[in-house]
Amino acid sequence: MANKWSATALFDRLSHVSLGGSTCLYSLETCEKMVPLINEILELKERQDAIILAHSYVSPEILVTVADAVGDSYELSLKAKQATEKTIVFAAVKFMGETAKLLNPEKQVLIPSQKNGCSLADSITQSQVKQLRSEYPDHTFVCYINTTAEVKAECDVCVTSSNVTQIVSQIDNDKIYFLPDRLMGQNLVNELAEKGVKKEVKYWDGTCYVHEDYDPELVAYIRQKHPKAAIVSHPECSESVVALSDYVGSTSQMMNYVKEHEADQYFLLTECGLTSRLQTEVPNKQFIGSCSMCKYMKSNTLDGILQTLKEPESAININIDQRIQKKARSCIDAMFDYNQPIKR
Ligand code: SF4
Repeated sequence: MANKWSATALFDRLSHVSLGGSTCLYSLETCEKMVPLINEILELKERQDAIILAHSYVSPEILVTVADAVGDSYELSLKAKQATEKTIVFAAVKFMGETAKLLNPEKQVLIPSQKNGCSLADSITQSQVKQLRSEYPDHTFVCYINTTAEVKAECDVCVTSSNVTQIVSQIDNDKIYFLPDRLMGQNLVNELAEKGVKKEVKYWDGTCYVHEDYDPELVAYIRQKHPKAAIVSHPECSESVVALSDYVGSTSQMMNYVKEHEADQYFLLTECGLTSRLQTEVPNKQFIGSCSMCKYMKSNTLDGILQTLKEPESAININIDQRIQKKARSCIDAMFDYNQPIKR
């Protein structure tokens, strides 16, 4: 029998969230409205043998109540791989559901949101990669995990924001084509140069519209207003923002940095869901910053998750063509071969 939430317990968890507009600020009254939905989801999830995975960027009320696991795209794919439930409800965007499906072809993977795109993953198509491969036949094609299954199927190895430099350094070819993130590509070039690794890196022109928006003037302003704050950015930010940051890392690396670092105050340059998550998990630390929401991630709602559990046919059911499945899986497996984080 699933544990039930009360409005006061929920308010107690969410009252620390202080970034953002009305969507991410909580009163006892808003918690009272959410609790019946939450408890119905918990009951249905158990009855239907489903697991709910949620990306750190989705709304805090999902992260702290109905999610069985919370993390970044890569962490959640590994969770999906270990799941014993027959259905995975993936509160995130479509390319993440596809990665979970590539690793778990036998499981049903459902995405509750209809608005499940991503400015980065949608910046390049399979036919554009094929065209690039014919233009650059001597290059090794490296794709960020934020790509569709079709795009992964045309690439040699997949990477995450936490292992990109390490994997590219190990590739036995000095000609690399990195896609789709131009800003991460520029950061990669700088990191390789810092490490003395000689590679010719070409990159595609995609961006994440949330991280692209941060500029060095904002970082300088925060530095001046809050000189004791540690400034932490994601490698999807521009190289000028990265250069001014105290720490740069993937969402999970940013989380660990905040939890382990001695500073009391932080400014995180990433989607504000991560800051909200940290406000609930590390309430003794202070977070400053702006509300930078990803409209795709935030389109996951409690209503949408409930609807998915009640009527699975109303949700996006991830299905991947067999040929694409095989090729895209080998692109992900190539990453595991470099990284060796799990046994297959
Ligand atoms: S935050 Fe950026 S990379 Fe992540 S889903 Fe939204 S648009 Fe895509």
